[in-house]
Amino acid sequence: MRILLSNDDGILAPGLCRLAAAVRDLGTVSVVAPDSPQSASAHAITLLEPLVVRTVELPDMEGVLGQSVSGRPADCVRLAIRNLLDQPPTLVLSGINRGANIGINIFYSGTVAAAAEGAMLGFPAVAFSVEIPSDGSEPDYGRAACYCRRILDILLADGLTRGDLVNVNIPDLTRRQPRGVRVTPQSTAGVEVEDEYILQARSGQERSYRIGDKYELRHQDHTDVAYLAEGYITITPLHIDMTNHDRLASLAHKDWTLDGHDFA
Ligand code: MN
Repeated sequence: MRILLSNDDGILAPGLCRLAAAVRDLGTVSVVAPDSPQSASAHAITLLEPLVVRTVELPDMEGVLGQSVSGRPADCVRLAIRNLLDQPPTLVLSGINRGANIGINIFYSGTVAAAAEGAMLGFPAVAFSVEIPSDGSEPDYGRAACYCRRILDILLADGLTRGDLVNVNIPDLTRRQPRGVRVTPQSTAGVEVEDEYILQARSGQERSYRIGDKYELRHQDHTDVAYLAEGYITITPLHIDMTNHDRLASLAHKDWTLDGHDFA
């Protein structure tokens, strides 16, 4: 198996190194990841700047080399598949991200975007994230990686196919064991506490704001947000297709004659 591994926390992030170590025996692991943290970069790609690629030795993995890219997570996966890899991957992995990627936060996630890029290019892809402990300490990436590997084994045994995109979230492991695994839809609920932007400085005509940290997703029963909060590992298959098929059907039945405009 040829695994392409990326992330959005940067190539030196412990979550990436632990995941690389956990899947190493499955085949060849090629690490191509951003050279700096890119959390919440979503599916951005770099158009105007050159992408600088450097060979980097991964921390805590003697002799294992990766390639850092001066771009976004989606850049890494695109560039790797188009140019850097000798052969196309058989599987694209992303993570393990520092922090959950659930509910509407999936739209902001660079971790999920790296996997989604792989899926868009036709490869099966899995994104892994682990919840940050509520006391703000670092997640236990080593134990999270063990769970990720077990889940990956089950997904592989079931058969990941072209374009499959699976989002996996591991609850905080520093307080307790996970209660189990839930295959669950993504929550579409908004934020519980209105997120605020804090005015930091004012000078002349200029003001600067910083996003506040009181950002919490509203719980929606039987979704990734609720199950992760209850201590379950969540698995959510995602679609690249963002079409709202119900609306597609209802809009398609409208009269789309545009008065005063002829069509060819
Ligand atoms: Mn991140």
